[in-house]
Amino acid sequence: MNKVYAVGIGPGGAAFMTEAARAALAASDVVCGYTVYVDLVRPLFPQKTFYAAPMMQEIERCRWALGEAEQGKTVAMVCSGDAGVYGMAGLLIQLAEEYECVEIEVVCGVTAAVSGAAVLGAPIGHDFCVISLSDLLTPWDLIEERLRCAARGDFIVCLYNPKSKKRIEHLGRACEILLEEKSPDTVCGWVKHIGRSGQESNIVALSALAGEPVDMFTTVWIGSSKTQVCGGRMVTPRGYENGGKLGCAAKP
Ligand code: SAH
Repeated sequence: MNKVYAVGIGPGGAAFMTEAARAALAASDVVCGYTVYVDLVRPLFPQKTFYAAPMMQEIERCRWALGEAEQGKTVAMVCSGDAGVYGMAGLLIQLAEEYECVEIEVVCGVTAAVSGAAVLGAPIGHDFCVISLSDLLTPWDLIEERLRCAARGDFIVCLYNPKSKKRIEHLGRACEILLEEKSPDTVCGWVKHIGRSGQESNIVALSALAGEPVDMFTTVWIGSSKTQVCGGRMVTPRGYENGGKLGCAAKP
């Protein structure tokens, strides 16, 4: 039907997918995307045609989807989390300008900042920002500047792409920058493989964060000055308790 759905499938298993995402997949003739995400939805729709493409072929992948839609198919482009958060929704909309008859529909999904926060407790209960440490498409200097600004604003900072095999030093450098403004005791947490088998998490002080076993399948939260550990969970109070600590430990 000359349509491409940009579908955020949530962090992992079927339980984290919205009904709207499921309906978009059910309505599609072809499901395409990065191999890991295609493999996550394949068991739910075994009768569908799948097209999996490796990383770093984003433009080709989008053009392939748009080409299929131009020929009359309904295509679902799957992304983990939300399709518009470091996902393919924007690129699809940009490229679709060249494919007059093709409609793009973005179907929102649960992004890692939100799904992983639930695993840790309630770390983003107050103003937060999301920063990706990937410098593949963003100059590293700009990433450093954003980290500094976030620390100055006392935001809770959620880090995507904290580390990869090629970028092992990025999380350590990010911690150094944040420590220029933030206390070494700042409560931090990370979750690996959110909603997937092998899910792991931990809550640590900012001074210890760089030594944690964080990789590219991990999301990291650095608390604000108000973030606490409460019953073993990471919590940033909204302020209902009027500044009181309600018996929680301020530090991990
Ligand atoms: N569109 C995705 C983000 C893609 S960028 C979303 O909205 O969630 C890739 C980064 O997202 C990873 O490096 C990691 O930091 C985070 N991420 C995505 N899925 C994750 C998961 N299931 N568990 C932990 N982190 C995840």
